[in-house]
Amino acid sequence: QNAIPHADCAKTAAAAQQGLTAPVLEDYIDHERYLAHGGYRLLQECHAGGRDAEAVIGAMEDSGLRGLGGAGFPAGRKWRIVRAETGPKLMAVNIDEGEPGTFKDRTYLERDPHRFLEGMLIAAWAVGIDDIYLYLRDEYHACRVMLERELAKLLADPPVAKLPGIHLRRGAGAYICGEESAMIESIEGKRGMPRLRPPYVAQVGLFGRPTLEHNFETLYWVRQIAEQGGAWFAAHGRHGRKGLRSFSVSGRVKKPGVHLAPAGITVAELIEEYCGGMQDGHQFYAYLPGGASGGILPASLGDVPLDFDTLQPHGCFIGSAAVIVLSDQDRAIDAARNMMAFFKDESCGQCTPCRAGTAKALQLISQPRWDVELLGELSAVMRDASICGLGQAAPNPVDSVIRHFPHELEG
Ligand code: SF4
Repeated sequence: QNAIPHADCAKTAAAAQQGLTAPVLEDYIDHERYLAHGGYRLLQECHAGGRDAEAVIGAMEDSGLRGLGGAGFPAGRKWRIVRAETGPKLMAVNIDEGEPGTFKDRTYLERDPHRFLEGMLIAAWAVGIDDIYLYLRDEYHACRVMLERELAKLLADPPVAKLPGIHLRRGAGAYICGEESAMIESIEGKRGMPRLRPPYVAQVGLFGRPTLEHNFETLYWVRQIAEQGGAWFAAHGRHGRKGLRSFSVSGRVKKPGVHLAPAGITVAELIEEYCGGMQDGHQFYAYLPGGASGGILPASLGDVPLDFDTLQPHGCFIGSAAVIVLSDQDRAIDAARNMMAFFKDESCGQCTPCRAGTAKALQLISQPRWDVELLGELSAVMRDASICGLGQAAPNPVDSVIRHFPHELEG
């Protein structure tokens, strides 16, 4: 349960951007190494009848694994819903990882791509998927080159007789394409804009077919849960919560990075036990529990368990577990302005409460004195009337400042 080291992806990607050299990722578990350590045996067992799809879905349900892209929908239940649909069925895998502060998917992909691919193929087997579409963040240049290479090896030496079709698609840098239906629109070659629901993606998704949509990390855990049982995953946890969470920690801590920790750990525990404490000269002041969308909490609420559902009473949520730690040298108000500018830029523009609301909110919070009453009304409209999570969550940082950091608004 230590920090997972990064391969030297950033350097190679930057070099590639300048046209200096092709990006190369070398320090990872490739196809040969993965096979040598028992990789794809579980998938073979599944296809050979040694495993029952019902039992594997049951293990997923017992594990309590929830969608780790941020929405937190129970993975096993999703498998069951799509399994009951009539084929052909498709899978769409979200590796767009656009939430500010989130870098766990890239970290795992850089280390162990076949663990993810085997989990994905086990899910496809259990649910009855015909074709899989991977949607990869295009800024991850080195990951794409590596993934193309490893997929080619997998297809050249398939572990089972019949693999689903696997298609790798490149995202084009839009934050909104992390929203499942916008991602699906983008994969279909259209502008990435969220769809109105119902119908849900599980019933009418990619190319109009029932679609199993998953975040990368959710699939990364499938093999281990199927091998060790749902109870193994659920046995982790702290403060009454169950499972493991991969926290992408950044900010004023000594050891930022991806830290695999029990679900329900508090941020104070996370900083002390996993991040080596605060940087010298910095005192813990505030934290963002879920990237740009999840709001801002003061250090006095540093003992709230970090998990799905636990932060709601304080107006926040964990999302993809991107924890950004602020110190006494930072201000929540600056973070809120920064994030509202981000949401304004990234709004797809489809609905007025979000398109006009983010612009108006940014204008209001750029004033020396905030009109708290007007901001409250604007937040309510955005929350109630926006089509998707971007517009609904965009007011969170502003509401957090008003609720938890009123002293910053004085003077
Ligand atoms: Fe687009 Fe924002 Fe409306 Fe979502 S809430 S559909 S991002 S305009």
